[in-house]
Amino acid sequence: MEKDEIWTSEEYGTSHQGRVATLLEDGSGPKPVYFDSNSGGFGWEVRHWSVYDGGTHPQRPQAHALQAQCSCGWQGEPRIVDWTTAGDLPFREHGWETAGECQDDWDRHITVVDAHAIDSTTLATAKGPHCFHRGEVEPRVRSVWEPVVLR
Ligand SMILES: [Zn+2]
Repeated sequence: MEKDEIWTSEEYGTSHQGRVATLLEDGSGPKPVYFDSNSGGFGWEVRHWSVYDGGTHPQRPQAHALQAQCSCGWQGEPRIVDWTTAGDLPFREHGWETAGECQDDWDRHITVVDAHAIDSTTLATAKGPHCFHRGEVEPRVRSVWEPVVLR
């Protein structure tokens, strides 16, 4: 069982699923951390950024930066984790600010995706009646627009 936190948008479902990824100092992503259950028998793997605090039991690396990632391949800019101001707070508490920046990045990514979706619709509607008269248009394009323009 793998535990993580995933953001989805209603409009895009699985085509744009965001998450906060963890980056190590060398820029690579750490392996999921395996936690044994106390009762034994099964455990689970956690990829959530908050487990990468450099702790032991189980041993895990310390996050250097957090980064928003989307299932479409988009990545946000890495947000460096500030461990010097963390004090005694557990990572899942002091890391929220950094994780929040990543979520903002992903929100902006979705806004851009939205804008493009609207652009292509408006463009198609605007062009429709004006641009394509019989004989003026390349066949490939006319075959798409003919039903709208000529009837
Ligand atoms: Zn995306």
